Amino acid sequence: MITQEQIHELAEFEDPSACALSFYFQPTPPRNKAHKEEAILTKDLAREAMRQLETRTNSSSAGDSNNKSKDKFESARADLDRIVRLSQDLRGARPRAKAVFACGAQGFWREYDLPAQLSGTQLVVNRHFHLKPLAQLLGAFPSLGIVLIDRHRARLFDLRLGELSERMDFFHALSRRGRGDGFGGYDAGHIERRVADEARQHFTFIAEFLRDALDKKGMFENWIVGCQDIHWSQFEPQLHPYAKQKLLGRFTAEVAHVSNEEIRSRAEKILADGQERHCEEVVRETLNQARHNARGVTGLRRVLRSLELGEVQTLLVGQNYHSQAVECSGCGHLDAHLVNFCPACGRQTREVVDVGEAILPWVIRHDIELFYVKDDPEFDKVGNIAALLRFRSEQNSNNVRSIADVPPKPSVSRRAGLVGRYRGLASG
Ligand SMILES: [Zn+2]
Repeated sequence: MITQEQIHELAEFEDPSACALSFYFQPTPPRNKAHKEEAILTKDLAREAMRQLETRTNSSSAGDSNNKSKDKFESARADLDRIVRLSQDLRGARPRAKAVFACGAQGFWREYDLPAQLSGTQLVVNRHFHLKPLAQLLGAFPSLGIVLIDRHRARLFDLRLGELSERMDFFHALSRRGRGDGFGGYDAGHIERRVADEARQHFTFIAEFLRDALDKKGMFENWIVGCQDIHWSQFEPQLHPYAKQKLLGRFTAEVAHVSNEEIRSRAEKILADGQERHCEEVVRETLNQARHNARGVTGLRRVLRSLELGEVQTLLVGQNYHSQAVECSGCGHLDAHLVNFCPACGRQTREVVDVGEAILPWVIRHDIELFYVKDDPEFDKVGNIAALLRFRSEQNSNNVRSIADVPPKPSVSRRAGLVGRYRGLASG
């Protein structure tokens, strides 16, 4: 499973000769006729990528020494061959999707398994890796803890990128009811009380553990509880306010008898509903703040500016948003006006890029929360891109700055190296 460090590594990667290959493989259902065509599809994609590389190499080789660009071209071809071979092995009923990021010229090759929920198989060749499919997946699967609890047992699971694993199993043996019955009618009420006491201690212990797991240890971002109603009424009062705030929902379950598959499907449903609600709230909040000229901005130009000023807390992008900008070859500044020279550093701008893709590496580097917003007419009206700000810096129109100058947020970025830390990237 992919870790946060690995995602940062991908976000930071750049190949000046634009030979960075990103391959996403989405398996098709076995009975589907298209199944047979998976390998053919990959071959076609590889051929198309090769053609793009060829065109680019021919047009840029004037300045470059011819041998050097030929070498790069050859190593990209070797990468593509390897991807085609790999995709042949991936055929068959495979429950998981796969991503490959490669750049032979720099000796870079990474393969990751992913949940089979990609929009399709694709192969992209560019200067940076293509990260949107990954960003969408991560948002759909933030790190999630699932606690199953009854009076004397608690099981802790985590759910990451669609994979459920059991982490801990707590068992607090209860005094057995009636153990003292033999002692000449030993007070049964006393035993009842002791059992109730022990159950309460157990609930308190688990509540404490949860607070630490969520807050201090950062084991997961949110959690879901599965238990009987009767136990919930005893467990809930013991929960720390922070843990309550991070609770996404509850389902009814018997700790000992629920199957992993049931846990996973119940949790994913609660998670998806929670994500959708949260996304809607953030969209309303952002638009409202933007209307009052407060902690919200809308439209590409203003959003880019706020990103460059390091103000953005949450970025909202339409699911199918496409817009162009120019990227500076020197400082990386992105400009919504298709200017030839960079307003930040004066150097020549490089090329027209798709903004939705170009901003992802630094959204990831700066741990900015990201939502992809689906079909929202109000959001559509403001240009399908908006941001909720952490603060609003002094508005000074000369204050153009390059992305590279914005310091990364230190506190969040390198904690617990799991994808889930990435609370951000959510598909709404
Ligand atoms: Zn510049």
